[in-house]
Amino acid sequence: MLEIKNLHAYYGGIHALKGVGISVSEGEIVTIIGANGAGKSTLLNAVSGIVRYREGSIFFKGKPLPRLPHLIVKRGIVQVPEGRLIFANLTVKDNLMLGAYLRSDKEGIKRDLEKVYELFPRLKEREKQMAGTLSGGEQQMLAIGRGLMSNPELILLDEPSLGLAPIMVETIFRVIKDIKNLGKTILLVEQNAYKALSTADSAYMLEQGRVVKSGRAADLINDPGVKESYLGVK
Ligand code: ATP
Repeated sequence: MLEIKNLHAYYGGIHALKGVGISVSEGEIVTIIGANGAGKSTLLNAVSGIVRYREGSIFFKGKPLPRLPHLIVKRGIVQVPEGRLIFANLTVKDNLMLGAYLRSDKEGIKRDLEKVYELFPRLKEREKQMAGTLSGGEQQMLAIGRGLMSNPELILLDEPSLGLAPIMVETIFRVIKDIKNLGKTILLVEQNAYKALSTADSAYMLEQGRVVKSGRAADLINDPGVKESYLGVK
């Protein structure tokens, strides 16, 4: 579904992605793991059009992906950014509706809002609450819910578990599986390598802008190198 080949991205003189290639099949959860600064967010931002890449290609469903963020959303890809970036002074419901701003199919929007509320009953309870007063975990739910409101085929999730209490981390990863069961494809960037590999179908390990390992997530979780570097096991 998504084919990234030989991607190179720079921030001024910093060569952040050095020929990255990854492939995501429809209906899969694919995770990108790696240390701070490995280039994980840059890779997601290149797909969603926030970061320009200088070399390489990104194909989505067999066609080159446009480079402008709103056209990328129209093609069926949405990013749930790190740090959530919700609108603190709008209600939960208004934040969700903003996710549907490029759509005009009222019935579909209504159906998707119900779906989001089914996935996150907590958001339904709090639909009139100002988003800025939600807990960190609830804000993460809201950010994911807002992403779903564009009715994407592919969802890019950047560090959804960052800074959350353990019980909320469990909830978020459970919901990621529920979203897959809705038929969506997910590209997940995570520092919580153990949870990410336990949830994903396949995985890529990035180091200093390069893919250094890839394979089925279930195999990588047992890989001695991955265990030592990312799972805290020697
Ligand atoms: P983290 O888990 O810490 O978010 P990451 O794997 O997502 O790390 P990136 O954020 O993609 O890594 O960063 C890759 C490299 O590019 C790092 O060396 C980082 O310092 C650099 N970088 C990222 N964003 C910028 C920017 N806006 N300007 C300059 N350098 C940047």
